[in-house]
Amino acid sequence: MSDGAPLAERLATVSEQIAATARDVGRDPADITTIVVTKFHPASLVRELAELGVRDVGENRHQEAQAKAAELADLGLRWHFVGQLQSKKARQVRQYASAIHSIDRPALVDALAEGEPLDSFVQLNLTDDPGRGGVALDQLEPLVERVLAAPGLRLRGVMAVAPLDEEPRRAFARVKAASDRVRALAPDAGAISAGMSLDFAAAIAEGATHLRIGSAITGNRPLHP
Ligand SMILES: *Cc1c(COP(=O)(O)O)cnc(C)c1O
Repeated sequence: MSDGAPLAERLATVSEQIAATARDVGRDPADITTIVVTKFHPASLVRELAELGVRDVGENRHQEAQAKAAELADLGLRWHFVGQLQSKKARQVRQYASAIHSIDRPALVDALAEGEPLDSFVQLNLTDDPGRGGVALDQLEPLVERVLAAPGLRLRGVMAVAPLDEEPRRAFARVKAASDRVRALAPDAGAISAGMSLDFAAAIAEGATHLRIGSAITGNRPLHP
């Protein structure tokens, strides 16, 4: 896949790869939602994606997401917030986001506890580095209980980023096991947000329901603004 390929071609190629991988592992491609992560790209690229039929887009920084969502409000897109979130910004994210994938600590749950129910994913930290986003796996149940007690949050499932130093399939098997623990507490919260440009096939094999794919579709990101 060359970076100069037009957006439509990259989107079609990735969509075909996702469908083929799903069928290979006995899954229905219709059970998988692809979120196109558009961080650092201009709103004009998001508009092009919408014209190509994309409905779900992901962003990881509040200010950028807020500005793009406002500029593109006419498109009726679903904005997924996938980045680390400061508690003091949390309430503002509610104003444009359809889902937050990065619920990772009690203070963030508390900041989002009030309001219309917002789709939420508890982010797992699969590394030993507490500085990475996500809740440590041994803290999962208490955080899930807190989300379930918050009227403003509707728990959908778990989210994770595979560590760079681990085979992705292994990492996503750990995510699947964590998802089973969450479903023991909340049977409807079986969604798994996992899989990016380089590892989505492994994520699909381990049950991912929401892929977050950036550069394989958008091309290389512009430098961090
Ligand atoms: C940027 C980002 C992605 C997409 O990454 P690609 O490698 O470009 O597909 C997915 N998830 C999160 C949380 C991200 O920040």
